[in-house]
Amino acid sequence: ISHLTRIFDVSKPWLNRVIERRPKALLTAVSDISFEVEEKTTYALVGESGSGKSTIGKMVVGLLKPTRGDVTIGGVDLLRETDRAKVETARSDIQMIFQDPYASLNPRWRVRSIINEPVAARGGDTKGLAEKLLEQVGLSSEDASKFPHEFSGGQRQRICIARALASEPKLIVCDEPTSALDVSVQAQVLNLMSDLKDEFGLTYLFISHDLTVVQHMADKIGVLYLGRLVEEATPKDLFDDPKHPYTQMLLAAAPKMDGFGREVDPPQGEIPDPINPPSGCAFHPRCPLAVDRCKQEHPEMRHLRNARVACHLAE
Ligand code: SF4
Ligand code: MG
Repeated sequence: ISHLTRIFDVSKPWLNRVIERRPKALLTAVSDISFEVEEKTTYALVGESGSGKSTIGKMVVGLLKPTRGDVTIGGVDLLRETDRAKVETARSDIQMIFQDPYASLNPRWRVRSIINEPVAARGGDTKGLAEKLLEQVGLSSEDASKFPHEFSGGQRQRICIARALASEPKLIVCDEPTSALDVSVQAQVLNLMSDLKDEFGLTYLFISHDLTVVQHMADKIGVLYLGRLVEEATPKDLFDDPKHPYTQMLLAAAPKMDGFGREVDPPQGEIPDPINPPSGCAFHPRCPLAVDRCKQEHPEMRHLRNARVACHLAE
């Protein structure tokens, strides 16, 4: 999948309406990303902010349409399948949990309505549903009558998880689900998610900026840099034998991470302007190994030992 995003000039708000249809620039937010998430596994997409990870998540759940490419779940091509009923069923198999549990819950609704809404909207049976799900995410059935503001951040994220589960999804896209939470509750929410995965046979696409957060929960990790996948491997292979210089840089910075998703010192060098990405390998201005070829030729993703990697010198 690829995604071309239109960038508008927001420095002059009074001009916004005028320039609405005249994008300032086109940004290739995501380019030629290809990956497969196996059923009942966790695939983690890791990258710095601006690497395109949320854009990918949104394309998978259908909040954004890829400019080019396919999204397929259980054999159904979500963009090309012409049988609408098939697409709707497949779409309801995918749910999303967002980074900010405050923003994603309607403050005027009782928790019961929030959790039941997606099922009610499809005409499904919601009797006792919210109460049961609240217990499954470690809250109490009485919480169904309360409003979101009566809960802590971690509890609200549990409510978001319950709402996602209500649709009996197969795949849940989790976009930094714990990074807005206090350090002390992050591990609890991650543990809950991992228990629910086993209990409900879920598949996760887990988006994070922190390799150490996904190390223990992912079955496979894809490392993103400026909208492209640069390496994909199991956590063990990635941590024991990182093949891409950017992965090596991230791992070298890892001891400075707190392990709970807080922003830490970024790896050395600036992230280049994604509107004018560097030629050839986009990582070359920051890469300690770069050679002339790297400035001219974009490295394709290829298999190397147990991984996939996009670097001319990975060997
Ligand atoms: Fe570094 Fe070249 Fe590999 Fe890019 S292709 S990561 S610049 S060595
Ligand atoms: Mg993001």
